[in-house]
Amino acid sequence: MKRTVTLRAFSDYSLPDNAPEMVQFSSMEDPVSAVVNWEGANYDVSLAKDGKKIVVNCSCPETEGACIHSALVFHALVLAKKKAKPALVKEPEPLVKKAAPKQGVFAKATKEDSRLRLALFGPSGSGKTYSALRIATGLGGPIAVIDTERGSASKYAHKFEFDVAELGDFSVDNYIDAMVAAIEGGYNVLIIDSISHQWEALKDWVSIIAETKFKGNTWSAWSQGTPKQREFVNAMLRFDGHLIATIRSKTEWTTQQNNGKTRPIRVGITPEQRQGIEYEFDMLIELSPDHVGTVLKDRTGELQDEIIKLPGEELGKKLAAWLVS
Ligand SMILES: [Zn+2]
Repeated sequence: MKRTVTLRAFSDYSLPDNAPEMVQFSSMEDPVSAVVNWEGANYDVSLAKDGKKIVVNCSCPETEGACIHSALVFHALVLAKKKAKPALVKEPEPLVKKAAPKQGVFAKATKEDSRLRLALFGPSGSGKTYSALRIATGLGGPIAVIDTERGSASKYAHKFEFDVAELGDFSVDNYIDAMVAAIEGGYNVLIIDSISHQWEALKDWVSIIAETKFKGNTWSAWSQGTPKQREFVNAMLRFDGHLIATIRSKTEWTTQQNNGKTRPIRVGITPEQRQGIEYEFDMLIELSPDHVGTVLKDRTGELQDEIIKLPGEELGKKLAAWLVS
């Protein structure tokens, strides 16, 4: 099957150590072509450059992303070019050029470390959109924004450079179309502002199909809703640059008696998304109504529990530096 992918799509596969031995090249120039012997079967694979993208054509039926066979070919090609028999490096610019600075583009740890998955939680008015744009600017563009707030990002068009897609309806398919467009556009950062609308729309859709298809049984209707939600989350995580998602949230409070005085105690936040959505992200920042960010989770370990007033460009720059180190 033929499809166009970005270089990073090849890093979605962890490859066996003997990967290069499975690949038999017939051409190492653009278009690269090879036969891959994978688990006893042979696959014809060709890779051709198309601007910043690679056209993958593999005889397997896989239709999305790079397939394991093309990943094997790409990997073998990178290794072969690295060994640099002069005859093979005649053309200095093919496929490998971009991957070369990032040694080990196929190593899972490196790949995951190099992409930010940030969720910004906060009530409306806490500055999620503004912070997202500032952090994205610090990370470095080009920046794409999927805007569900009817132009809330465009208010800042004079301050930041970004492209925006305003979603008219918040179906999973519509979000995914916009995410695919962002991947195809080769953006370095994707902001989805917000993913709460997706969840609201999915809940509405499930209650409609519960009535129309499942005799009012909402639980049964979720047998269709849950895979849709999974599809959404997977698409989001597959974005091959940095991802910043904003999520509306409510802060939950309780009261405590202390020396005869009653004072409020914060017990946590409730994101307006499916329960557990926070586990999909590497980094969680909660924004208070007065725009103070609290780092609730940070996989880099550098910022855990830090309080950041007005998280913005500086934070983005720091993160960009950590992610590549
Ligand atoms: Zn394949």
